[in-house]
Amino acid sequence: MGILDQQIALVTGGSRGIGRAIALALADAGAHVMISYRSATAEANSVVAEIQKRGRKSAAFQSDAASFTQSKEIVEKIVAEYARLDILVNNAGITKDGLLMRMTEEDWDVVLNTNLKSAFNFSKAAIRPMMSQRSGKIVNITSIAGVTGNAGQANYAASKAGMIGFTKSLAKELGSRNIQVNAVAPGFVETDMTAKLNDEQRKKLEENIPLKRTAKPEEIAAVVRFFASPDANYITGQVLCVDGGLVM
Ligand code: NAP
Repeated sequence: MGILDQQIALVTGGSRGIGRAIALALADAGAHVMISYRSATAEANSVVAEIQKRGRKSAAFQSDAASFTQSKEIVEKIVAEYARLDILVNNAGITKDGLLMRMTEEDWDVVLNTNLKSAFNFSKAAIRPMMSQRSGKIVNITSIAGVTGNAGQANYAASKAGMIGFTKSLAKELGSRNIQVNAVAPGFVETDMTAKLNDEQRKKLEENIPLKRTAKPEEIAAVVRFFASPDANYITGQVLCVDGGLVM
């Protein structure tokens, strides 16, 4: 028995990194967890196998989270199979960093579409079953870059700040239907996304973090699991920085 027993969850970008850790944390708490991913089929299948090993149901859906139609189809397939959707975690995301002077229109569009439009795509499809159930939890994975801004990440920071506005607006729209919408803003987490940092950059970064270290994906996943659980039933529209104290 877990706090999410028999709940049906969807985690976008669940094949690697933070999304993988979230999918496993929700499954550990009792949920049946579906994931979406873009291209890492072997990794996605191994997450599905890990979830099934825990005795939960799972499936992986390959799609481009930026596609409205594909996102809608994934949610419809899940609802056709399980007749409900309890938890949506909008986690899929990418970076295409560069100073605005050099940023291409394509770099802007792909980041905004993958990070922000994807949250619109999946949430729009998910709120239909959640509204008829009169319950649901949406957790958006934003970033401290969306809170503070970051030189070289105008596209990424704009997409993540957009997710924060989206979170608060949805929380206001859906509160009367008992659907809670919150956001988690990670700081620096050990995933493929941050693997590009060299030792010197990493050392400098860690010096500025009050807890003096980067996060493990599991430390983000634990907070997402909390927001997805009945323990967070009276919390909505919040953005929690999970960043070792970097932003305060
Ligand atoms: P990651 O290791 O690069 O994994 C990204 C995940 O998103 C993968 O599952 C990937 O699928 C999926 N994805 C990317 N583009 C997609 C698309 N177009 N359609 C569907 N799925 C797509 O990244 P991460 O570090 O775990 O980041 C996860 C989330 O946390 C992102 O939203 C990121 O912005 C946010 N975040 C991360 C950090 C950090 O320090 N790592 C900090 C703050 C916020 P494939 O495996 O198939 O490519």
